[in-house]
This record gives sequence, structure tokens and C-alpha cells, in this order.
Amino acid sequence: MTTIFTARWVLPITTPPIVHGAVAVKADEILAIGSQEEIRAQYPEAQIRDFGEAAILPGLVNVHSHLELTAFRGRLEEPQFQRWIASLVQLKSEKLTDDDLLTSARLGCLESIRAGITTVGDTADATATLQALIESGLRGIVFQECFSPRLEQAEQSVQAIEKKLCDLREYVFTMGAEKRLRLGVSPHAPYSVSSRLYEKVAELSFEMTLDIAIHAAESQDELSLLRSGTGAFAESLQRRGIEFPAPGCSTVEYFQQLGVLDAAPLLIHCVTVNEADILLMKEYNIRVAHCPKSNAKFGHGIAPLITMLGAGIDAGLGTDSVASNNTCDLIEEARFCALLHRAAQGDASLLDPNAMLKMITIDGARVLNLDDKIGSLEVGKQADLIAIDLTRTHNTPHYDPAAAILFSCSGQDVVLTMVAGQILYEDGIVNSLAESEIVYTMRTLQEKLTNH
Ligand SMILES: [Zn+2]
Repeated sequence: MTTIFTARWVLPITTPPIVHGAVAVKADEILAIGSQEEIRAQYPEAQIRDFGEAAILPGLVNVHSHLELTAFRGRLEEPQFQRWIASLVQLKSEKLTDDDLLTSARLGCLESIRAGITTVGDTADATATLQALIESGLRGIVFQECFSPRLEQAEQSVQAIEKKLCDLREYVFTMGAEKRLRLGVSPHAPYSVSSRLYEKVAELSFEMTLDIAIHAAESQDELSLLRSGTGAFAESLQRRGIEFPAPGCSTVEYFQQLGVLDAAPLLIHCVTVNEADILLMKEYNIRVAHCPKSNAKFGHGIAPLITMLGAGIDAGLGTDSVASNNTCDLIEEARFCALLHRAAQGDASLLDPNAMLKMITIDGARVLNLDDKIGSLEVGKQADLIAIDLTRTHNTPHYDPAAAILFSCSGQDVVLTMVAGQILYEDGIVNSLAESEIVYTMRTLQEKLTNH
């Protein structure tokens, strides 16, 4: 069965926009793309779905999320980062059951689908995230987290994460989701993972062919910990009686010394990287997850995205968790990103609408090593596409669809979300998850998390 999706605009991203365009989809693949006239003539028997005054484009790629933390939206407004993390860890372990984390991750999937996100690079501690992603129909990589700043626990921690990853891989296969979902590993951050554990996880990534994602160079406190053993993270580790010898260098140099860069990890944030770090990152093919709203909300600063892109480093956009954002909306994130860097650099030519649409589609796909399958509308690629309604008050009139999407739209204008040929969202309804039930369960969970 072939279906043709048509709209005033089709934006394939890697080729020029098509006015009155069409995308033909068969099973999970894109069969053809072109003008409505030619595609209709080519497949006269196909079912037609016309979106009218709308733009059809590839599904959005969120390169950094924490779906399981959705329950903490608005709950942790603590401004000091180290205390924020400590509160998050404490609340998660003391208040949330595995079922609660599943509800939380399901809500995150719902929000992503509604906002036109079709692929996530999600860092997850609970195994519930993988279950929620399987149910949701979304595509992605789940970077399973490991933590342990204590040197003596490295061996035990790596064994535990190896076992967990083996079990989860089997689970993905059992559920028949291996085409959509891949596993990776995320040794959380330099202040929560010992040097020995980093070395071991890097080795494990080669043994198990796992992609690695790490929160890196996010804050001044992280940099102070590594450079001089000072700052909020150093003090917190000291209070817990944990020995952390400062390597006396930057996060990127530290990862080079430990052999972590050899695994070409995805580095999340990179706010405090300097020019020497950026050269090293290029040399090791490091990819970056840029999360401008999360960094801004914590007051961490602005990652040198323009310099990194100028050096030829691949960067995608991430929303981070809604505990630090507080929405999972990649269009809004892209607008914030463009405006932020233009304002900071005093240059309105930076990050134009086409560049930003690339960043949240094909560039994100490349960052997750999925660009052979997704990220653009091309024949033979997976049928991951979305439609954005351009008939609404706030996006009328429009003269350039890319500019309209970047500067006037948000995720709420998405009217169709499809992954691998499956329609996950249309007519205001998410098909793959029981939305009202999940929202209701979250309200009861909210009660449990409320500070009485
Ligand atoms: Zn994060």
C-alpha cells in the first residue's frame, strides 16, 4: 500500500524545497519525492493525504533528552547546579518507583511525538525509558547511564552496566524493536564518574560496539574540579569522603588522557571548551549535543557553537530534560539557539533558518550516526516525517517556510508525526500511547512529588 503525503511545501532538507510537493511512502520507506503532479502520475493507485497550507519535512532529531525525568518539570527550580543535581538524585531514588519512572518516560515520549520529534538520543538510568520508547514507536539511541566517582568501585560498576546492556539488548530484540532502537552507554559526567570507570567504559564501548554520550564541560564548577580540585563539585565530593585527584586540565584533555576520545564520544553541552579543546575535538571526530536553553537556564553560559561549527565539528540540538528546560520542543530550542548566538555575536547572518532546520534534522541524525537512515527526505530512507500547519494566526502570512518554522512556529503547530511509516500522531491524537491515562497518572505522581 502506497500513501502520498502532499502539502504546499515539502522540505527535503538535503535538496531544495518543493512547492506543491509530495512524498510517497510504502511500508517503512520513502518511495518517491517530487511535485504533486509527477508523484500522483507515478502512483495513480496510491492513497492521498493532503495537508494543504503546510510544510512536510523530515522528523526532528533531539540529540539529548532525559525522558524519564519528565516528572520533574518545574519541580527543581534550584538555581545552583550541584545542589540541583543532588536534589534530583535524591528525589528520584526516594520518591519514584519503577512504575513512576515509566509514566514519566511515557509522558516524555508523548510530548516529543506531539512536537514532531521522531528520534531521540536519550540518556537514561532507569530501564523504563527503553520500554516507553518501544511502546511509543519513536526511534532513538538510549545511552544507558552509569555513575560512580569512587575509584574502588570502577570494576563493579562496569560489570553492572555491561550486564544491564546485555539484558536490554536482548529485550530490544525480543520486542522486535532493533531497527528503531539502539543502545549506547553514558558514563554520566566527570564529577560523578571516576577516571578508572571512564577507562573501563571506553574499553567496553569497543568490545560491545556501543556509542558513548557524556555530559562534558558543562559548568565552571566542573572545570574548577578538574583544573584545581576546587568549586562546588570538589566540595561535595570531599564532604562524601570521595578522593578525586584533580588532573589539572580541561574536561576534553582529561578524556584524551583516559582514552575516552578514542571512542569518538558524543559530548553533551561543551560550554567551557576552549580553542585547544576544539582542535582536539575535531582531531578525534567528537560530536556535540548543543543544549542552549538548559545551559542558559542554569546560567552556565553559551557554548561556542559558532567556533565549533567553524572548526568542522558536527553538532546537533538537544532539549536536555524538562527538569532544566522546561519543555521538550525542538523548534522552540532552534529559535532560542539562533537568537542567542546572533545576539551574543552581534551578527544577524548567523544560523539562518535553513541552517537551523538542518541542525534539527540531518545534522542531528549525523551526530547520532543515523544519517544513512533518517534526517532528510530521500528515496530509500526511513519514512520519518512530520507536517507543520502554516494556516494559524501566529504563522500567517509566511513567505519562506523555513523562516516561518524557525521564527514563528513551535512544536504545537505539528499536525502529523510519522516514524518508519507508522503514523504516531495526527488529528490531535497520539496513536501509540494512551495519552489521557498517562496525563492522569502523572497528576497523581505530581501529588507525591509536591513539597508539602
Ligand atoms: Zn543531560
